[in-house]
Amino acid sequence: MSTPSSSIDTLAIHAGQEPDPSHLAVMQPIVLSSTFAQREPGSPLKFEYSRSGNPTREALESCLAALEGGRFGFAFASGSAATLSLLHTLRPGDHVVSGDDVYGGTFRLFDKVLKPMNVSTTFVDMRDPSRVEAALTSETRLIWLETPTNPMLKVFDIGKMSALAKSRRIPLVVDNTFASPVLQRPLQLGADVVMHSTTKYINGHSDVVGGALITSDEGLAERIAFLQNAIGAVPSPMDCYLVLRGIKTLPVRMRRHVESARELAGRLAAHPGVAAVHYPGLKSHPDHALAQRQMSGPGGMISVDLAGTLEQARRFLASLRVFTLAESLGGVESLAEHPALMTHASIPAESRQALGISDGLVRLSVGLEDVDDLWRDLQAGFAAMS
Ligand SMILES: *Cc1c(COP(=O)(O)O)cnc(C)c1O
Repeated sequence: MSTPSSSIDTLAIHAGQEPDPSHLAVMQPIVLSSTFAQREPGSPLKFEYSRSGNPTREALESCLAALEGGRFGFAFASGSAATLSLLHTLRPGDHVVSGDDVYGGTFRLFDKVLKPMNVSTTFVDMRDPSRVEAALTSETRLIWLETPTNPMLKVFDIGKMSALAKSRRIPLVVDNTFASPVLQRPLQLGADVVMHSTTKYINGHSDVVGGALITSDEGLAERIAFLQNAIGAVPSPMDCYLVLRGIKTLPVRMRRHVESARELAGRLAAHPGVAAVHYPGLKSHPDHALAQRQMSGPGGMISVDLAGTLEQARRFLASLRVFTLAESLGGVESLAEHPALMTHASIPAESRQALGISDGLVRLSVGLEDVDDLWRDLQAGFAAMS
């Protein structure tokens, strides 16, 4: 049933979540059953087997579709499972063009899983659409775009990339994990599929690993539904429930993430211990104007290049008390990490340098704590550097 609103605040709380018909329970029941009784052979009521479909998962999938303004949503056991399930639409001999600054696990799927299956990928800096155009071959079957990127927070033009994909009649997939549907709606900008690691902002509480694909294209939806069931990398009903619960506060959380990140990015940019701040909300960011056009807010992620050595960056991170030193992002709690030593350690040092991932680079996921507490924590980090 459709929710009588197009506002994301209302959709986040109600989309896909009619009161349960058996008891009119207001919160979505967690239906753990792996199988569903049939009154006659071959005529299930609606669900047959929970890999193929499950009521709690269906509620989440409808909600995710509504948030992205798409017709079809699919939930997966992780963002990586969503990505690989989608990439199974490709065949040996096919070619992919991807951004050069994609999530490490996505790069690994292209490089270590697809390449041996004879699906090749060209990685390009998508800030220049002519480079993407030059990378397209007659075998290119998909364009993969992540924006804003991780950890450099580059912003790519979804509309321009969509025009390019449409001219070749190939799908454009956008990893919308860093922005969330509250700040960016790729389908409205011409993308064919949106991918999410729901582990991050969508669940928002760092207690679920999950993923999603959303599309409005009937043909792609049919393929994805087939692959979701055939491959079976589906989330548990318990995890679906937790993500649905997290989504209820997604719009409120995102506004606060943006507000605090803006404030901290401004203060960091003015700090003498900082060589560079990468945050699309700063006027100094090279993609600031595009971010303003394409997004309703610059997000809650900041990368800071500390003016110092690797050892000083270690001391900065070790002294943090409110920020937790950990991988991942998008939770209510603030996290700090060192891309070169942690999330991006598997990328060869020369490639890291080329991307700007220096030894002084620290990535912050700005949480919902008091912004002055966060600032005091960072100041203690600077003090520990010298
Ligand atoms: C975390 C992440 C993924 C992978 O998702 P998992 O849930 O960890 O498998 C993909 N893309 C981005 C941008 C991410 O941050």
